[in-house]
Amino acid sequence: RRRWRRVVKVLEEFEEGSATPVEKLRQVVDAMAVEMHAGLASEGGSKLKMLLTFVQNLPNGSEKGIYYGLDLGGTNFRVLRVQLGGRRSAILGHDVQRQPIPEHLMTSTSEELFDFIAASLQDFVEKEGNGSEILQSKIRDLGFTFSFPVKQTSVASGILIKWTKGFSIPDMAGKDVSGCLNQAMARRGLDMRVTVLINDTVGTLALGHYHDEDTVAAVIIGTGTNACYLERSDAIIKCQGLLTTSGGMVVNMEWGNFWSSHLPRTSYDIELDSESPNPNDQGFEKMISGMYLGDIVRRVILKMSQESDVFGLASPKLSTPFILRTPLIAAMHEDDSPDLREVARILREILEIGNVPLKVRKLVVKVCDVVTRRAARLAAAGIVGILKKIGRDGSGGIASGKIWGGSQGKMKRTVVVVEGALYTSYTVFREYLNDAITDILGEDISSQVVLKVMEDGSGIGAALLAASYSASS
Ligand code: ADP
Repeated sequence: RRRWRRVVKVLEEFEEGSATPVEKLRQVVDAMAVEMHAGLASEGGSKLKMLLTFVQNLPNGSEKGIYYGLDLGGTNFRVLRVQLGGRRSAILGHDVQRQPIPEHLMTSTSEELFDFIAASLQDFVEKEGNGSEILQSKIRDLGFTFSFPVKQTSVASGILIKWTKGFSIPDMAGKDVSGCLNQAMARRGLDMRVTVLINDTVGTLALGHYHDEDTVAAVIIGTGTNACYLERSDAIIKCQGLLTTSGGMVVNMEWGNFWSSHLPRTSYDIELDSESPNPNDQGFEKMISGMYLGDIVRRVILKMSQESDVFGLASPKLSTPFILRTPLIAAMHEDDSPDLREVARILREILEIGNVPLKVRKLVVKVCDVVTRRAARLAAAGIVGILKKIGRDGSGGIASGKIWGGSQGKMKRTVVVVEGALYTSYTVFREYLNDAITDILGEDISSQVVLKVMEDGSGIGAALLAASYSASS
């Protein structure tokens, strides 16, 4: 009995440390808006990098023609072509080809990597059918989604800051990413050029805006997490004199690195961070994204097993970092069998812990719930932070003149597009996130805020932006 109480106490303490009452979420909202402001005020002014994208016009549905997208952000890359008919929502068709990057190229030279990509692009172009010959006279426009940190120098060019996600090609440092690809395409005689260079969140925002012009921000919650949004040019203080034709620019927040003392942090988060390859970095991401949620759950279960014998003899698997992946957390959380069969299976097969009594399996589900709920609610607070920064949280503020339309004083409809498996595939996560938006904003204001699932934005969005920025459109 005493042992049982000790396990329950581990859970209770964890739950208390992870609590996200609405007052706390509002503090996170405020902190996000403040940090955004600081990051826009000066270079290095905040943990939020608030990177300029030079994207000033988002697709609006009037684009016409055939455009290409290339999405490179991890172990796979995709090339695709969209055909646009000039009327909103009329993406007439798109073809995609997905390919893994051969592992040796991830640590080779920039020439080898981009030659390989250019060859795939050429292969894809040569396979294209109907009516493409008409295009031969015109150089093909390519939108390039390159999801690594880049210092943009124009909408079509930028310099790699550093490789992440297992890539390490030293000769790329300081080089223009688009230049490398353009040269590789030229070497093969491929008549194509990079028209826009973006990261994946910007692609998602572009696709959202193409379908719905009320779209102001895009958030990705997958393996990692990031967000971008449309900011007024005069609010981008660190780039004085940034006069743009549209009056706005998309800002890539790199919000995974957000930090605030108001974030509900537990001892498990501190340990996860200090054992990670990038301590003190990506603090927000480590509480929210798919890469980490499973490991927080594992750490809590490990602590429970150390406090008592409810999980039997110590299983070495339980001490193995990242063995419990986030999709498994979702599977345990969503197990609706009365005897929690799926939970038992995962404990047995993945963690090699057998014969766990039902009441202990229930505790495991509760741990998954606490971790997921905190993640989803913090992501929601981040989103409301963006809305607050641009005066779309209903609180009035600087931009209120713009947003309060009509005599009823109703806030303007505001769309945020969300991509990534946590939101699109993990139902409980999505519901917690949506509910938290309503908790923070209240029924009235939140009824004007629409969260939309977006899929494939990083690829299609790049091609759409290539269309917006092509000389001929
Ligand atoms: P990306 O790797 O580009 O972010 P996704 O958006 O598909 O791609 O996100 C994949 C991540 O989401 C994985 O790391 C995994 O942790 C998590 N994930 C995938 N499927 C699910 C699911 N059904 N429930 C919860 N998390 C999931």
